[in-house]
Amino acid sequence: MPRSTQRDKTVEVNGTAYAWPRRPLAVVCIDGGDPAYLQRYLAEGAIPNIARFMREGFATVADGTVPSFTCPNNMSIITGTPASRHGISGNFYLDVRTGNAVVMTGPELLRGDTILSRFAAAGAKVASITAKDKLRKQLAKGLDVSRGNVSFSSEFAHRATLEENGIENVLDFVGMAQPDMYSMELSLFVLEAGIRLLEGRDRPDLLYLSLTDWVQHKYAPHEPEAKRFYQELDRRFGRLAELGADVALTADHGMNDKSDAQGRPNVIWLQDILDEALGKGETRVICPITDAFVAHHGALGGFVRVWCQGKTTPKQVMKSIYGLPGVEAVLDKQTACRVHDLPEDREADVVVIAAADTCVGASRAAHDLSGLEGHRLRTHGGVSEARVPFILSAPLNDAYRLKAGAATPRSYQIFDFALNGLGES
Ligand SMILES: [Zn+2]
Repeated sequence: MPRSTQRDKTVEVNGTAYAWPRRPLAVVCIDGGDPAYLQRYLAEGAIPNIARFMREGFATVADGTVPSFTCPNNMSIITGTPASRHGISGNFYLDVRTGNAVVMTGPELLRGDTILSRFAAAGAKVASITAKDKLRKQLAKGLDVSRGNVSFSSEFAHRATLEENGIENVLDFVGMAQPDMYSMELSLFVLEAGIRLLEGRDRPDLLYLSLTDWVQHKYAPHEPEAKRFYQELDRRFGRLAELGADVALTADHGMNDKSDAQGRPNVIWLQDILDEALGKGETRVICPITDAFVAHHGALGGFVRVWCQGKTTPKQVMKSIYGLPGVEAVLDKQTACRVHDLPEDREADVVVIAAADTCVGASRAAHDLSGLEGHRLRTHGGVSEARVPFILSAPLNDAYRLKAGAATPRSYQIFDFALNGLGES
């Protein structure tokens, strides 16, 4: 079908109707893209394309999903739903039947459809590109890559096959070398790939480009490496727009410095505290930030889950935590699920959320902080890192201007705003 007749078509996903893209739409998730970075570089005039989007299009600071981790927020964005609906409430959860910590990156754990797969099924051409491969399978849930749709990661760009990814020879196609896991190129590769696809003859209708937060974990806004990264991002955002795409920018979470004046991380070693107070084996603390590549944050975040084992009750656990310096909230399961819109069947007995300058770990012995290499600890997970940029390169129509004015947008509404809010209502 030619695009002009497609324009009247809507695609329903998880109860929301999405208009067909009026032109290619590139949604970018700037992993760890705390608003503080943009604020600083906007003031310095260092990111002219983002500045233009904000001036000519729409910009606000949106509420992301809590816990402010990568997997839950990426899944919220591509399903258009809160974690209570899509089920991915962390990077890890405890399977109480087996007692094992389960990584939550499997597509079978994701509930509902993705906007990407539903549009592809309706005949749109879709590209889903991520920096870290851990996200790729979930992002591609239900996406048929045999029909011109593509799904790959820059981490495994060198291994992409037509069968698995819908594209091969990615390094040649993008014109970049295989990027290192710990480099800003891992993210830039994602954007370059999107640009190549838009430069081609058979352009995608929808692109989801998900970056990685290595730079923001390592560098604060005032450090030159971070500024250079944002300038590189900005140039590529400008190129996406120049190629005729609507560009929508958001983030999965922000980032805060969690070290003291001497540069030592402010950590609450919660498992050690609970073992001391309630006895060893009575509780199990799970840090849902953990993934296989943790050198830059030592698996420390601002949100942890505590499961009761033995005879300890949630009340006793909560009593042992109340009043600890650096703790912002201690919630029982029901309250955590209600306040933060989380799925009860994957929630712990107790949720602990740290203040902006503090993080929570399990036991001191279980965390390897050697990867910080003298850097201050910067990480995320709490409510204080759940405020994220929400920027569209074109102005909102009247209906969506009203909607944005009536309530702070949620970052999982970015596809809604970008597909239904641009052009005529
Ligand atoms: Zn992230």
